[in-house]
Amino acid sequence: MEAIRKPQRLRCSVQNYDWGRAGEESTVALLFSRNNPIDPARPYAEFWIGTHPSGPSSLLSLGSSDSQPTLLKSWILENPSVLLGDKVFDKWGGDLPFLFKVLSVSKALSIQAHPDKKLAKKLHEMHPNVYKDSNHKPEMAIALTEFKALCGFISIEELKDVLTGVPEITEMIGDEDVHRYMKFKETDPYDKTKVVLLSIFTKLMSTCKEAVSESVSKLKYRLNIENKVRTLTEKEQLALQLEKQYPNDIGVISSFFFNYVKLVPGEALYIGANEPHAYISGECIECMATSDNVVRAGLTPKYKDVQTLCSMLTYKQGYPEVLREAPLNTNISRYTPPFDEFEVDHISLSPRESVSCPPVLGPSIFLVVAGEGSIQMCPGTDEDSIIVGDAYFVPAKTEIRLITGAAGELQVYRAGVNSRFFN
Ligand SMILES: [Zn+2]
Repeated sequence: MEAIRKPQRLRCSVQNYDWGRAGEESTVALLFSRNNPIDPARPYAEFWIGTHPSGPSSLLSLGSSDSQPTLLKSWILENPSVLLGDKVFDKWGGDLPFLFKVLSVSKALSIQAHPDKKLAKKLHEMHPNVYKDSNHKPEMAIALTEFKALCGFISIEELKDVLTGVPEITEMIGDEDVHRYMKFKETDPYDKTKVVLLSIFTKLMSTCKEAVSESVSKLKYRLNIENKVRTLTEKEQLALQLEKQYPNDIGVISSFFFNYVKLVPGEALYIGANEPHAYISGECIECMATSDNVVRAGLTPKYKDVQTLCSMLTYKQGYPEVLREAPLNTNISRYTPPFDEFEVDHISLSPRESVSCPPVLGPSIFLVVAGEGSIQMCPGTDEDSIIVGDAYFVPAKTEIRLITGAAGELQVYRAGVNSRFFN
């Protein structure tokens, strides 16, 4: 039993999506370079640690280089209830319920939302080639650098300002809905405002390509002229920036509908089902339920499913909650999103420190994002040295210890099943 519970060092996958940061600028590339050669000219967008088939991790310690590497997923399947813990195995079957990532964003990602469980199942049944997963995908992003994102619809009063201040939008959606919306107050009930916002947003997003191009050109022309006599608002500056990245895209216009969130390092944002969002720039740790289900509707050359996106959104309005880490002890603090599948710990060690990461009832993934030190698999055993890019799968009920030397410092993130699931 003890041999099975030994933590395993992982070889992880990357995604070279074109919005990623290139070569040396990219934390994703830095992490990946630990076990792989890097092409400095390519974008390195996402570092994946987990079992998802689109970017599976494998065990570095088992299987030699000339044989097929053992996939983490197949290794877990050999002893799922031991490695994942009984409770996790009962609830999610023989697979890791979360996917752990690092993102290096140089250019905006698509405006997207992730379906809830019911819709995910339906979309997967109807279009298995587009929606490859039947699972939902709540997610959380923790800023490693300043991290900018669009997330959720702005408040009623802010949207009224947009409808009066951005004439290109009013032209696209027509007077009738605008007049209805302008009568709303912040205190109006959600089901009343939702209907009108749904109608406005659907009209905007369904506008034909030619009309969108024309509106984007008008907006750009007007803002460039006004820029000479006044300072543009942050949202106007963002629209111009997005236009450079995705010319003639409806996302340039629809960005005015969303909250512009700027996280400082250490702050986090979580995104529930059916909430619109788009990451704009920066680097982050990301954790999510194991799924890759995305419904896109702008800022992308990929397939857009406007009808599905517009009908699935909650249309809740207002600024999203920004999560901060809560200290567990001097070295470890925790981000707890409102989802069962995951939580994330940030472990920080100065020179000559050590910390025990006590056993938990579910599986964990550890990732070293900065510094160097060593890991002790269980008290009393030998230490392995660790540096940036090292990732470990740690089975349920397994204690590890992290240690730094005289010159070392360590920044490590741990993803695990949300503690609230075990309570
Ligand atoms: Zn997302």
